[in-house]
Amino acid sequence: MRRLGLCTGILCVFFSLLGCYVPGFAAAREQSYPLIIRGGFVIVGDGSKGMKADVAVKGERIVEVASHIKAKGDVELQAAGLVLAPGFIDMHTHSDGGIFRTPLSDSKIRQGVTTEVINNCGSGDFPIAPAEKNRQKRQATKSGVAALEQNSAGWYNFKEYADALEQYGVGVNIVGLVPHNRLRSSVLGPKSSRHATEAEIAAMKNVLEQAMRDGAWGLSSGLEYMPGSFSSTEELVGLASILPQYDAIYASHIRNEAKDTMKALDEALLIGRESGARVHISHIKASGRTNWGQSKAMLSKMAKAREQGIRVSEDQYPYTASSTSLSSQILKPWMRAGGVDKMLQRFKDPETRKKILPEVAELIAEKD
Ligand SMILES: [Zn+2]
Repeated sequence: MRRLGLCTGILCVFFSLLGCYVPGFAAAREQSYPLIIRGGFVIVGDGSKGMKADVAVKGERIVEVASHIKAKGDVELQAAGLVLAPGFIDMHTHSDGGIFRTPLSDSKIRQGVTTEVINNCGSGDFPIAPAEKNRQKRQATKSGVAALEQNSAGWYNFKEYADALEQYGVGVNIVGLVPHNRLRSSVLGPKSSRHATEAEIAAMKNVLEQAMRDGAWGLSSGLEYMPGSFSSTEELVGLASILPQYDAIYASHIRNEAKDTMKALDEALLIGRESGARVHISHIKASGRTNWGQSKAMLSKMAKAREQGIRVSEDQYPYTASSTSLSSQILKPWMRAGGVDKMLQRFKDPETRKKILPEVAELIAEKD
């Protein structure tokens, strides 16, 4: 599969090259190396204990790791008291648009992240239906970012987005998923609030399959968001069934992360079982009072699924709070269906308002 982006800059080389290190390897020793990093605490990332060592780098490869390298380095970096590790992979990002604003990705590189997985939670900038292209271009023009203005008209699909990234050049490696909400909008229209028909699922599968051929690494869903909330499990199984032949992942912001988390987790596992795809649960959490104490049950559910042959993994925030849109948390899908204008009409209608308020109160009460 295609890996996007060029890793440039000394820090990035430094981290990512360590990913090439194979314990016990023996390379021809040389008198000098272009770069030697001395005295760092090397953690290879394979679970083995770390060790204090010198690391020699030539071109794009690590060529020697030893407690003391006798050769001289054209450049020598002193790393005593610092850790040397392979570049970290940030499994869950929404950098798909932002990467053009800060293409060096300094904020990631400085944390040791050299690979970002983008287009999570079903959201992203492509695919775009031909009828939507102009609207997308207008949004990009408003943003005032030159790269977006130049390229967005061409971001109809994964390939064009990937080409734009490569032309523009970015500081980290990018692993691109196909965002389900955007995929769905491109076939059913942006304001769809119903199940997809068989023909529409087939059309989505075609777009997804093309993206996989063009180097995407999987499909992401955001089933608490519009219009993914309206998708059936069958639709998701159908789409995910494209993935196994590419050994790609189905990464899911599951349908519910509060009262119905366990049900939502069951759905994600069912999608894995039925489609044969690898399932990745995004930002797994036991959110809200009703979930207090549920984390063990969630983890054992996944352990059981693994025993049954479902390939499931998960990532987690490094902080306790979560971040998302207010509407996805305190409004139900039926209240949001059809876009913002329709939602506001419902708020204004006295009869509908009477129905909305107690349900919103109930959702708020579930929160911590
Ligand atoms: Zn999410």
